[in-house]
Amino acid sequence: MTDEFTTPIYHERDADESYIQDKTVAVLGYGSQGHAHAQNLADSGVDVIVGLREGSTSRQAAREDGLDVTTPAEATAQADVTSVLVPDTVQPAVFEEIRDGLEPGDTLQFAHGFNVHYNQIRPPENVDVTMVAPKGPGHIVRRDYRRGEGTPGLLAVSQDYTGEATEEALAYAQAIGCTRAGVVETTFREETETDLFGEQAVLCGGVTALVKATYETLVEEGYAPEMAYFECMNELKLIVDLLYEGGLSEMWDSVSDTAEYGGLTRGDEVIDEGVRENMQAVLADVQDGTFAREWISENQAGRPSYTQIRRAEQNHDIEDVGERLRELFAWADENQPGAGQPTEAPADD
Ligand code: NAD
Ligand code: MG
Repeated sequence: MTDEFTTPIYHERDADESYIQDKTVAVLGYGSQGHAHAQNLADSGVDVIVGLREGSTSRQAAREDGLDVTTPAEATAQADVTSVLVPDTVQPAVFEEIRDGLEPGDTLQFAHGFNVHYNQIRPPENVDVTMVAPKGPGHIVRRDYRRGEGTPGLLAVSQDYTGEATEEALAYAQAIGCTRAGVVETTFREETETDLFGEQAVLCGGVTALVKATYETLVEEGYAPEMAYFECMNELKLIVDLLYEGGLSEMWDSVSDTAEYGGLTRGDEVIDEGVRENMQAVLADVQDGTFAREWISENQAGRPSYTQIRRAEQNHDIEDVGERLRELFAWADENQPGAGQPTEAPADD
């Protein structure tokens, strides 16, 4: 464990893989996380059964990857640990199918805390309830593992019936490669609330709103949409890469003094007290369950507003300009698999 942080961070030396090695793990779902957990566990020598609906198109993929496949109910009945890796919105229904297969001392495991934290799933009292959440999409979890590396992860325990929930979750994290990088201990509540707030206020919501608002500000003042696209969307990648590699300092060091001075003095004018109050309101909706209730009833109603807002986003002017510009320039290739790898010098034709 690393001690100089506010929360425990576990590494390979802290994990005892025997807590998972003699157990059977049911992996429900074979999407982004499911395929990576199932294959990494199997390669680590753990018995894995994939649980998928009859007729699921993922069944063939799992079988071709050499894994045993059955229904979610049957997989859980056979397993000691059930890893619930179907989409969050379908987990409550899948839980009803599997609950009879949970025996005392079994483990119900998640990769996101939403359904347990907001009581959409109420596990029986005689099982362990844990979370192992890699901080990356499944294809990265699989890729890192195959390279002998690991994707960082989060670990949480919401119910410790056996008294061994943490050890077992840590062993699971080890078997999918996460302890090679580091596993941060958290709670279901903290993971759920920070995850939702982060995706709403910055990662998905905040950043796209900032891109659209700055683009619209320039275009409304008569600047070329192409120029606005480059400034407000395309160049964001360069800045984010610097932040990712070296934090604020590396970014400020890399841009011009003019950009640094302008950014430092004007950034807080854009994200002012009013915006911070909006952020607090967004966080409050996450904390008191308002957002969760809204999202659950939106799904129950067949996603009417979601469909509409999504369509409006797809039809934003910046999408049209961006699509045409990306077709014209070679950097679009960076979005293809293998991006970021050193390539041959581009042909000069
Ligand atoms: P996904 O959408 O990629 O895959 C879900 C899989 O579940 C599908 O491939 C299918 O096999 C199955 N499935 C779909 N609909 C189903 C249904 N109605 N009934 C039964 N099975 C069904 O899901 P994901 O992104 O891997 O998410 C799984 C869990 O992992 C979620 O809790 C999510 O929050 C969490 N998580 C995801 C990521 C990520 O980057 N994708 C990262 C960390 C945690
Ligand atoms: Mg069982």
